[in-house]
Amino acid sequence: MQPVSLTRGSSDVTSQPGTMAMPAADPQAVEAIAAIGRFASARGWVAATSGNFSCRLDAGHALLTRSGIDKGAIGAGDVAVVPLAGPIPAGMSAETPLHLARYRASAAIGAIVHVHTVAATVLSRADLKLGYVRLRGFEMQKALSGITTHESVVDVPVFANSQDTTALAATVESRLAGDDAVPGYLLAGHGLYAWGATMGDARRHLEGLEFLLTCTLEERKLQR
Ligand SMILES: [Zn+2]
Repeated sequence: MQPVSLTRGSSDVTSQPGTMAMPAADPQAVEAIAAIGRFASARGWVAATSGNFSCRLDAGHALLTRSGIDKGAIGAGDVAVVPLAGPIPAGMSAETPLHLARYRASAAIGAIVHVHTVAATVLSRADLKLGYVRLRGFEMQKALSGITTHESVVDVPVFANSQDTTALAATVESRLAGDDAVPGYLLAGHGLYAWGATMGDARRHLEGLEFLLTCTLEERKLQR
């Protein structure tokens, strides 16, 4: 794939016979990803170049972070336009298939965020056999779209981690196809994925879920 020039307008697209035109990387989309990167980095949620972020550009493309970059200092050269149906350009994160599969599964998803936090990493390992981490009774559950009371029960799905992210994406989507009411999932010993209609929604879900996971972890320590 050719590098995307950010100085060109969105009307300057390259048409390919039989395929959807590749959109340019909208500078606003680049800044949205850079901003969530700074937000997560400041909280220590994307240590050692971990984590990745993306947003939908149109029905067939998303803008994603490249592999191995400092998420606290994302620039225009650190993101790339990727077709949702592939192929995935060289230099992208190994977790790119997990993002693309989510966008393909739901047209309502506009942004996806992924972090490696301590609470997500530890709780997902503890509850892998159960298959979910249960969040119950917290006011913060209302940060998740569609939840209006602390009396709700939120079961965040947990999947076994895998380096075969194409197969992992299929496993994840197979389960979420039946129920993706919770806007996030956990990979055991790895981290948290969250999404939303907009980057703002995705960030609220990420921040809410991370807060809830931290509270749950702290409660378990008290109960020991
Ligand atoms: Zn990861």
